Amino acid sequence: MTIFQAPKGTYDLIPPDSAKYLAVREAIAAPLRNSGYGYVETPGFENVELFARGVGESTDIVTKEMYAFETKGGDRLALRPEGTASVLRAALEASLHKSGNLPVKLWYSGSYYRYERPQKGRYRHFSQVGAEAIGAEDPALDTELIVLADQAYRSLGLSGFRILLNSLGDKECRPVYREALQGFLRGLDLDEDTRHRAGVNPLRVLDDKRESVRKQLVGAPLLRDHLCDACKAYHEEVRELLTAAGVPFEDDEKLVRGLDYYTRTTFEFVHDGLGSQSAVGGGGRYDGLSEMIGGPALPSVGWALGVDRTVLALEAEGIELRLPASTSVFAVPLGEEARRALFAVVTGLRRAGVAADLCYGGKGLKSAMKSAHRSGARYALVAGERDLAEGVVQLKDMESGEQVPVALGSAVEELGARLV
Ligand code: ATP
Ligand code: MG
Repeated sequence: MTIFQAPKGTYDLIPPDSAKYLAVREAIAAPLRNSGYGYVETPGFENVELFARGVGESTDIVTKEMYAFETKGGDRLALRPEGTASVLRAALEASLHKSGNLPVKLWYSGSYYRYERPQKGRYRHFSQVGAEAIGAEDPALDTELIVLADQAYRSLGLSGFRILLNSLGDKECRPVYREALQGFLRGLDLDEDTRHRAGVNPLRVLDDKRESVRKQLVGAPLLRDHLCDACKAYHEEVRELLTAAGVPFEDDEKLVRGLDYYTRTTFEFVHDGLGSQSAVGGGGRYDGLSEMIGGPALPSVGWALGVDRTVLALEAEGIELRLPASTSVFAVPLGEEARRALFAVVTGLRRAGVAADLCYGGKGLKSAMKSAHRSGARYALVAGERDLAEGVVQLKDMESGEQVPVALGSAVEELGARLV
């Protein structure tokens, strides 16, 4: 029988590389945990309507990329393509917004699914860590999120990324701009698909990545010139707070992002070493989303950072994360009695918080020492019949090769002291 392969557009995380993914998730989560964000976990699938309404009927995510299906019971569900709609749904369902303690700050980490054309940095199953601050309109909150993402990337040693910033206006000024843009787009020579998009969601045309379309868009009316005074002041405050925090950014009038729910602040983190899949993360304010999914008015802001692309960015910059060794002590028993004695020592080490492993399967000395080397352990503990008769185990320093006998009863203490 042929061996099964992972489905198209997916890949497995396997040691040793999988450790990098854990470290990236952890590095992104750390500044959030430290800033009042609580962990939230929602199901991997939701009612398809949540995404249709929340993400937007005219977006690529909903029209082309969603894994939607009907269950045996007749429910219409979809694998989650993104996190914001689900997290807001969960917060509303649990009435977190009624606790009188706004904003509700939540972070999450998990798998997301989009039926896309697979290529480097673009997969059908990928991983994000995200943050949402629900129920407050305050430019400092938008800024906090951008600063925390910047801090996360920098903590990983990344420096080759840029922050693109824009404001999409609000329900006062965006409709006026939308009409001006539609007027401009009507005068262009666009293919049928794009003309249709100009009709239902003209801002998305600004997001077109094709060179031929980009050329025609030169001279398009800019939202910046149509922002109402309140949006202008809000955006200016975000820019000033970012500058004061020492976080550099670039104004990008064409940044609209692929989801319908954004208002005012939008931003994207792009990395220049990633080719065309350059966005490592993005987000923005979504003041209207709660009402779109049946909740009260709850102005909110959030982001999602892509774990897969962040790992690619680390590779592009040649950054090796300094990960703690997974095994510090590797025990090599020679014979039955030694296995029992060393199993007890390894158990003691683990209970004392030392990363320890044992050679299983009754291997001979040579192949067991190979396993010890492969484990990356700093020390090996070797014991045979004669050692046990003398009440000792041999403690071998794997770097210097030096070996000393240690009393069996004090091996845990001795190693604990050496490894601090
Ligand atoms: P793109 O323009 O590259 O399609 P997007 O705007 O669809 O990105 P978001 O929905 O904002 O992406 O998701 C946030 C982050 O999640 C992205 O910046 C990216 O790092 C990651 N991401 C999105 N889609 C994929 C995918 N198919 N494969 C891997 N990572 C992805
Ligand atoms: Mg996309």
